[in-house]
Amino acid sequence: MSGKSYREGVTVIQLAEMFPTEDSAREWFESVIWPNGRVCPHCKSTETIECKGKPPLPYWCPSCKRHFSVRVGTLMHRSKISFRKWVWAIYLHLTSLKGVSSVKLGRDIGVRQPTAWFMLHRIRKAFDGDDSDLTPPFDGPAEADETYVGGKRANKSNARRAELAGQGRGAVDMEAIVGVKDRESNRVAVRHVRRTDGPHVAGFVAESVKPGATVYTDESTAYNALAARYDHESVNHSAKEFVREMAHTNGVESFWSMMKRGIVGTYHKLSPKHLHRYAAEFSGRHNLRERDTLSQMADLAHGMVGKRLTYAALIADNGLPSGARS
Ligand SMILES: [Zn+2]
Repeated sequence: MSGKSYREGVTVIQLAEMFPTEDSAREWFESVIWPNGRVCPHCKSTETIECKGKPPLPYWCPSCKRHFSVRVGTLMHRSKISFRKWVWAIYLHLTSLKGVSSVKLGRDIGVRQPTAWFMLHRIRKAFDGDDSDLTPPFDGPAEADETYVGGKRANKSNARRAELAGQGRGAVDMEAIVGVKDRESNRVAVRHVRRTDGPHVAGFVAESVKPGATVYTDESTAYNALAARYDHESVNHSAKEFVREMAHTNGVESFWSMMKRGIVGTYHKLSPKHLHRYAAEFSGRHNLRERDTLSQMADLAHGMVGKRLTYAALIADNGLPSGARS
């Protein structure tokens, strides 16, 4: 970790003072989601009207003749949770380096645990597929590596167990994640993959790093294809090769250790089908960590726009890790 900048934190006392009422929290979401003034989420018209005494849809769009609120078209769509609770959930999620569990969040903001669990998955999704300047492709030089995290056997379908066993890893309980860390910007990108072969692993690197950059990896043959597109250097871990000057993957490995501490320590019952969202959470928090707390919160609220995650979709079990690209 570079530790090069001091980021401005917000204490819980300051946050409580900033958001004393439900209106103050709603106004904050509106200022972040509509920085240039109110926009109809249905037709994008900017000529809209406030209807007094009309919550939960306080605005009216004369062009498309529909009511709306700042929640419409975001991950808070149809949520009955107050804006203040959303603000606190976002704050606690961003400021807990190892993540916040649904049990703890439920207690802290006064909602039931399943509600907190659903909120946290929506907050994670705000990081997922974000198209801000934090996301790849990176300029490099970059480090790429893969790691395994425990997925509970009981949470896997029989088909998925058979598939993992068929790969001869002998580790039916483990799920693979591939990651890239850009050394210049210190940013990471991760993906839950179904197997650690060339198409999955080198394929992810090709999407995440601009061609021509230097890419450091371990000696796995899955990375062989990178030579055609990159200045590819590998480190031979199995031969206990001394770290050759720049040729190492220590940066991405330190990200793995932080992510695993969080996953093991906070999310004990992690299901593989949600792993991609947890991975997005850890990379998202990592990539935002040098910004002030309030701008991190604004970034996250912004990431909620144009996305949808229903409870039904979240709990649906298709037997496959849904985020793992096949
Ligand atoms: Zn409209």
